[in-house]
Amino acid sequence: MNHLKKIYRYLFREELSIKNKLVNVILSSAFLVQIPGIIVTIIVGTGIAGVLAQVLMMVIIATILFMTNKMPDSPVPSILLAVSANLIIFPVMFFVSGGSGTGIVVWMLFGATFTWLLLEVKWSIVITGISFILLNGCFHVEKNYPEYVSFLDSRNEEILDTTIAFIFVTVIFGLIFKYQTNSYEKQAKVLKENDDVLRKLNEELAEANARLESASAAKSNFLANMSHEIRTPINAVLGMDEMILRECKDRQILEYANDIDSAGHQLLSLVNDILDFSKIESGKMELHPVEYELFSVMNDCYNMIFMRAKRKDLDFVIENDEKIPAVLYGDEVRIRQIIMNLLTNAVKYTKDGSVKLSIRYENRDDSSINLIISVKDTGIGISEENKQYLFDSFKRIDERTNRNIEGTGLGLSITRRFTVMMGGTIDVESKLYEGSTFTVTIPQKVADRTPIGRFDERLNRRSENAETEKKKSKEEKKEAFKAPRARILVVDDVKMNLNVVKLLLKNTEIQMDLAASGDECLKYTLEKRYDLILMDHMMPIMDGIQALHRIREQADGLNLDTPVVALTANALVGAQEMYLEEGFVSYISKPVKSTDLEACLLRLLPEDKIIREQHED
Ligand code: ADP
Repeated sequence: MNHLKKIYRYLFREELSIKNKLVNVILSSAFLVQIPGIIVTIIVGTGIAGVLAQVLMMVIIATILFMTNKMPDSPVPSILLAVSANLIIFPVMFFVSGGSGTGIVVWMLFGATFTWLLLEVKWSIVITGISFILLNGCFHVEKNYPEYVSFLDSRNEEILDTTIAFIFVTVIFGLIFKYQTNSYEKQAKVLKENDDVLRKLNEELAEANARLESASAAKSNFLANMSHEIRTPINAVLGMDEMILRECKDRQILEYANDIDSAGHQLLSLVNDILDFSKIESGKMELHPVEYELFSVMNDCYNMIFMRAKRKDLDFVIENDEKIPAVLYGDEVRIRQIIMNLLTNAVKYTKDGSVKLSIRYENRDDSSINLIISVKDTGIGISEENKQYLFDSFKRIDERTNRNIEGTGLGLSITRRFTVMMGGTIDVESKLYEGSTFTVTIPQKVADRTPIGRFDERLNRRSENAETEKKKSKEEKKEAFKAPRARILVVDDVKMNLNVVKLLLKNTEIQMDLAASGDECLKYTLEKRYDLILMDHMMPIMDGIQALHRIREQADGLNLDTPVVALTANALVGAQEMYLEEGFVSYISKPVKSTDLEACLLRLLPEDKIIREQHED
């Protein structure tokens, strides 16, 4: 009994395919069927040949059964089974077990049918074709040469043999079909269970996703608020500091004020870096392509880096291919940021020697080029093993050696992300203690193919024309103005910020009212008519946008059409568009620069209230 169970478990083990299990069903049933078959043959007395044929069949079946289970992936055992049963055993049985009057025809039908269950179509056609020919051959031999057939003794025996064959074949087919249906049902059940599990997992994923999205929205919100909160006090610090720099005569205090100014700007750029980084992370960073002059970008970078390099006694060189198209189309701000990040690092991580910015290009097609920016330094270099960490966020290399050098480990990560966003690549070559070269390649559209010329020559020409420059700056200074008859209202919930604007505009002698809330602002706008309103956005109770809408709706308001400028620390992407859409005429971001503020007033105040001043130099 135990052995039988073992055999059963082996023949129907899990790892077998349905087809293999089917072969096992057929073979083991056929094997078992032979036992009563032999008994019947002995009883009806067909003779020793019939018994031998059935024993031979059992041996063949057992061999094929063995082979099938030894090589379950091979079609050979099934082919052997079909060939030996249909083409050898059944035809032989036809002659030795009584001819067409017996159950052999039923067996032949069974053989042909299960061939289709086991084999591929082409094999099935071949084998059933041949067995059809053989069957006909057997009939013809029986008819024409009956002496070759060993017939049974009586018609009764023939009927018994046919009945037995009929019963066995029906049972085997029944078993096969039952087994197949069961297997499919089992599989369908497993599939359905898997389906349910998947559906549940999907639902859980969707929930997790929704939670993540809301966490990410909370993070963005937090960052927007944090940026606002930090930029607001920086605004006050830098604004007040500018007043000291303008008005103080004491050299020592001026030095302190200069230090505050540089630390303040550093803090501001740090806040901007963190903001940029989180915008990129949350997928909110957008590129804003414009037409721009490459020379002006190079010039800005030169101006910003030149003094820093000089303070460290480093040579700073800019080299460029003079044929680069002068006007390009791309995100000028980000390109400048990429170059500045690389240059700032080069200066930071170089003790002596030089920093060189080279700009080259290669044509992509008629309307675009690859801009190739490389920054080379003779600094501390980067070891082979550290190169892999270079572009990781918040990762600083050699923390110990670099501990005196300020940094967050964000610059290169942001640089790479911007580069990738623009469809470009960034590479680095570096040798420890010898220096590094960072190369950024960015596709840019061409707006004007006029060659840019050599940067250093244009720069020299410019300094040669120092006189003209002076005149120019004189003209710029002419833009200084007074507007004692103009009246403006400044709204901000932070008193210090109100003071900054007041002090920055002190020289213009503009009449100014200061409101510390939306409510207070609405009181003023009912009482006085203003030429311009400067409005902070984030204020408690009533924010700047609500205040603007209320001003426009005031029944007896005196400022229904007064231009209102958003003055805000909200520096997120899309902020400008949002303010203009809400009805502000312009947007100034904090920390406010006096030049921005004055330019805005000059643009928006009524011309007849502005007295432009001629400076004597
Ligand atoms: P930060 O300079 O703020 O630390 P970055 O992302 O700009 O962050 O740079 C990451 C690290 O890569 C730096 O901490 C520094 O170790 C290394 N690194 C960057 N540029 C250079 C360079 N030009 N020479 C040597 N090391 C550099």
